[in-house]
Amino acid sequence: MKIALLPGDGIGPEIVAEATRVLDALRSEGLPIETETAPIGGSGFDAAHHPLPDATLALARVADAVLLGAVGGPAYDGLPRELRPEQGILGIRKALGLFANLRPALLYPELADASTLKAEVVAGLDVVIVRELTGDIYFGSPRGRRTNEHGDEEGFDTMRYSVPEIERIAKVGFETARRRSHRLTSVDKANVLDTSILWREVVTRVARDYPDVALAHMYVDNAAMQLVRNPRSFDTIVTGNLFGDILSDEASMLAGSIGMLPSASLDANGKGLYEPIHGSAPDIAGRGVANPLATILSVAMMFRHTFARDDVAARIEAAVRAALARGLRTADLAAPGEAAVGTRALGDAVMSALRSGNAIAMKDGES
Ligand code: NAD
Repeated sequence: MKIALLPGDGIGPEIVAEATRVLDALRSEGLPIETETAPIGGSGFDAAHHPLPDATLALARVADAVLLGAVGGPAYDGLPRELRPEQGILGIRKALGLFANLRPALLYPELADASTLKAEVVAGLDVVIVRELTGDIYFGSPRGRRTNEHGDEEGFDTMRYSVPEIERIAKVGFETARRRSHRLTSVDKANVLDTSILWREVVTRVARDYPDVALAHMYVDNAAMQLVRNPRSFDTIVTGNLFGDILSDEASMLAGSIGMLPSASLDANGKGLYEPIHGSAPDIAGRGVANPLATILSVAMMFRHTFARDDVAARIEAAVRAALARGLRTADLAAPGEAAVGTRALGDAVMSALRSGNAIAMKDGES
């Protein structure tokens, strides 16, 4: 289990430190975990004048999985686009072929009041959005600006998906649904877009290989509405890059704080990059107040998706819930007037719950 740790910038090092303690505890129980740390983003620029230093990419390539904190910060805002911190993340996604982005939006009962929606609407929320990450209008060509036939300047982009691209993300969607409650909603705009008509045809075809999964199709505008009207009607959603970008941010708000949500970006073989969905939070960096749970939950996703160890993932998630059940809240989760704890204290609570949980059952070959 070779894991590359890329803490990045801002609160990245603080939250990855807490996730690393979880990995250390699991290693001390006998899991064959090896970690190595490398700079990315602004810290990559500081170390090697590039947001994705060659040595960092080389480490990520040989690792089985990558754990990333976050990148970015005001010190790097003036850099030319190709040297800006976010190029580090875009570069690593592209270089590793990470085409499937999984974002669970799960509301822990302990946090039912932290959502902006009524507790009775979001209680029990447990949705996973599978978003295609390397295609669609973000990458299609031609794109650019030109003067049209009326002499007006216009901007244009190209929405594009090939059959193999749709097939491989559809399969991730069906496999994800199969591990959950066997219900998949494919989101498109097939009433207007040719790309979506093809998307719907291909997803329907792939569904024949998954007779145990109930497939529904939904237009994206309706999906955006249903996500706030009745979010529990969804289990697994599969969609393209543009629609997934918007719907996954919408879904993240249902779950309370941005500091709670992990994500996975996977290649065709289950190798993955795991990261919290939030950024580097420069406004609170260095103060020891950031919520480390999204990063710790990203480690749980790593065990589920790359290492096929649902038992370890479930134990980490249970430890997070136990810490929340004790009433510990970082500032982003605390109700107005409620006392908040720091990053380390919440990490301590997860660690003690993890230690008091059942020791992990070893598989053959693990010492
Ligand atoms: P952000 O997610 O960093 O912060 C938004 C707000 O949420 C801030 O008020 C922040 O304090 C709070 N917040 C975020 N994570 C938190 C946590 N774990 N605990 C408590 N509070 C938390 O988004 P932003 O402010 O728009 O961007 C800041 C920097 O992060 C920018 O440079 C941006 O480019 C970068 N960014 C990076 C990523 C990434 O690394 N994947 C994603 C988004 C933004």
